[in-house]
Amino acid sequence: MSQTIYKSEFRMALEAGAQALEAALDGLDARDAIKRLVKDIYPGEACAVSSFGAESAVILHLIAEAAPDTPVLFVDTGKLFDETRRYRDDLTSHLGLTDVRSLKPNADHLAADDPDGLLHQSNPDLCCHIRKTLPLISALRPFKVWISGRKRHHGGERAALPRVEIQDGKLKLNPLYDWPREAIEAYLTDHDLPAHPLVAEGYPSIGCNPCTVPVSDPDADPRAGRWADSDKTECGIHIGADGQVVRSGET
Ligand code: SF4
Repeated sequence: MSQTIYKSEFRMALEAGAQALEAALDGLDARDAIKRLVKDIYPGEACAVSSFGAESAVILHLIAEAAPDTPVLFVDTGKLFDETRRYRDDLTSHLGLTDVRSLKPNADHLAADDPDGLLHQSNPDLCCHIRKTLPLISALRPFKVWISGRKRHHGGERAALPRVEIQDGKLKLNPLYDWPREAIEAYLTDHDLPAHPLVAEGYPSIGCNPCTVPVSDPDADPRAGRWADSDKTECGIHIGADGQVVRSGET
């Protein structure tokens, strides 16, 4: 019973925190919202999570402008393209980010559940869980809020993305939630930001090598090449403990 009351109080405090954050950022554009978050509201308690993918340079550039020592968590699943790791290093250097943390899956989890490295073929949800979600949950523990680069224009469950969410006991800010694809492309051009090398090869969204294919239709969802042969659309790091894609005011 007391545990139930504690959970309820914790939940109410989180919701109050989300509302306060919404109010504090009201009227601010993405640049100023990030700056306000990391410098004034949650100094030392905010981080970013980035895949160093096709559009990641935009949010990382904004973060580098606000505070280049903001921790940036990058999950290296062990199944990434080599180009992504090289792009991580090049972009980190280009932007002057000083605290990019590369996370690895737990070796015991891999030995137990994916000893031959083929779990992505038989059980991609479990593969994402041990290779992405668990390392990220562990690395997020010290932080109260994290910044994500997701956007509504990605489609699918992201089409109704809010600016502030609650997930697994933390707040999450999506500063670019309402940026259309054209705004992202214009920002990349205007700031002369280096592109992920696979974009030129037809990949509009880049995840793990075995689960990502190029997309030939320019009008398709940017994420159409992710788990293209299945119903899976999210890796799990944006899904709450109840298995639902997280929305503001829900868990
Ligand atoms: S995207 Fe594919 S390879 Fe990567 S963790 Fe998920 S299922 Fe495994």
